[in-house]
Amino acid sequence: APMTDRTTTDGREPSLPAAPGDPLLSVRDLRVAFGGTEVLHGVDLDVRRGERVAIVGQSGSGKSTLIAAVLRLLPGAGHVTGGSIRLGDLDVTGADESAMRRVRGGRIGLVPQDPSTNLNPSMRVGAQIADTLRAGGMRGRATIRERVVALMTEAGIPEASRRADQFPHEFSGGMRQRILIAVALARQPELLIADEPTSALDVTVQRQILDHLQTLVDQHGTTLLFVTHDLGVAADRTDRVVVMLDGEVVEQGAPGDILRNPQHEYTKRLIAAAP
Ligand code: ADP
Ligand code: MG
Repeated sequence: APMTDRTTTDGREPSLPAAPGDPLLSVRDLRVAFGGTEVLHGVDLDVRRGERVAIVGQSGSGKSTLIAAVLRLLPGAGHVTGGSIRLGDLDVTGADESAMRRVRGGRIGLVPQDPSTNLNPSMRVGAQIADTLRAGGMRGRATIRERVVALMTEAGIPEASRRADQFPHEFSGGMRQRILIAVALARQPELLIADEPTSALDVTVQRQILDHLQTLVDQHGTTLLFVTHDLGVAADRTDRVVVMLDGEVVEQGAPGDILRNPQHEYTKRLIAAAP
């Protein structure tokens, strides 16, 4: 995928454009526990720039915990007990909180699972996207407005200039998910993480949104980490599939190889169960 010409608007050091294929995210032997219960048992994960990687696994296998650890947003009693996480040249496990705020506000864009809890119900959607742009350093009313409409249009929202002035409840679930995609892209992230972004939606809408997400990622050259429990969806839309079970990576590879020649019993079961 082509690299985008990214402008640094959040005050971080402008870095030389990295060649596609450089390691962007490297997770090594990561262990995470909630209280005394370990739920990630030594996970390795590599994502290179420009790559589209899927994490696949049934509910409870630790996918969201892995994402939360990368963002350093583990809930409650969750804590890293071992291993390391690097994002480019940043040591995430050792970084201070202000560095992590910059990561969450810029380098990584997260499309969360549930649109209802991630949009402010009393704020027009255009204003919410505008806030993200301003937080990234963009200035000028007209410039911001133009960018808001462009982002909503890119995310597949028709009549974006009119709909920017509406509130979240005036949109369908699928359209709210698209608004969250626009918010995530407003950060011009290096890495876009989508954690089961469509599981609350019906299958037709899911497919439409995933196709659209893929087009956007291709256009922007964004690196994608896509979390799903659906191996079929993952295999269609990514360069590499990482299969997780019970807090461990049990298998990974190119989607075609995994589908043709699965090694682990769990992967075989997933394939057999696919419609
Ligand atoms: P997935 O996203 O693959 O469905 P999760 O990462 O949400 O899996 O969960 C992995 C394991 O961690 C599960 O056993 C789950 O019960 C546990 N877990 C997740 N969040 C919490 C939490 N806030 N407190 C305690 N245990 C949790
Ligand atoms: Mg999850």
